[in-house]
Amino acid sequence: MVIETRSPEETFRTGEELGRNASAGQVFALIGDLGVGKTVFTQGLAKGLGIEEAVSSPTFTIVQVYEGGRLPFYHFDVYRIGDVEEMDEVGFDDYVMGDGVSLIEWADLIREILPEKRTEIRIEKDLAQGFDYRKITVTETGD
Ligand code: ADP
Ligand code: MG
Repeated sequence: MVIETRSPEETFRTGEELGRNASAGQVFALIGDLGVGKTVFTQGLAKGLGIEEAVSSPTFTIVQVYEGGRLPFYHFDVYRIGDVEEMDEVGFDDYVMGDGVSLIEWADLIREILPEKRTEIRIEKDLAQGFDYRKITVTETGD
């Protein structure tokens, strides 16, 4: 599925829609360059899960847990990890195998430990289409 957006609000609403429909144990793997809109998408997804709390990228921790929504939400940003072994230390497997919804920004950096079954969200710019244009490709893997 490909969705094209032309504003942060549209990307937020795309995330919101996927959050409303997310199921227990679902894992979202976000891929895309710095500033492309991964966190905007994530904020929408959190809203769609019914989370009222403000969601920002976890800066000092790899994972931020939100319990206030329809399902627990585990938000990872792995931009700064040096080695995938750091993911063991935070208990990555327990999160992704748990009943909450997991979302990983910069998922391509930990590709070798991602669960086979996941929802990949690739966000890309195309400057020829305008500065605020984003192409969001949603792919289900592993089934
Ligand atoms: P990332 O988490 O991928 O590094 P952010 O979500 O933090 O990126 O930032 C995306 C930036 O791009 C924001 O400043 C946002 O306002 C801007 N932006 C412009 N157009 C869009 C769009 N169509 N979708 C998402 N963000 C957009
Ligand atoms: Mg981000």
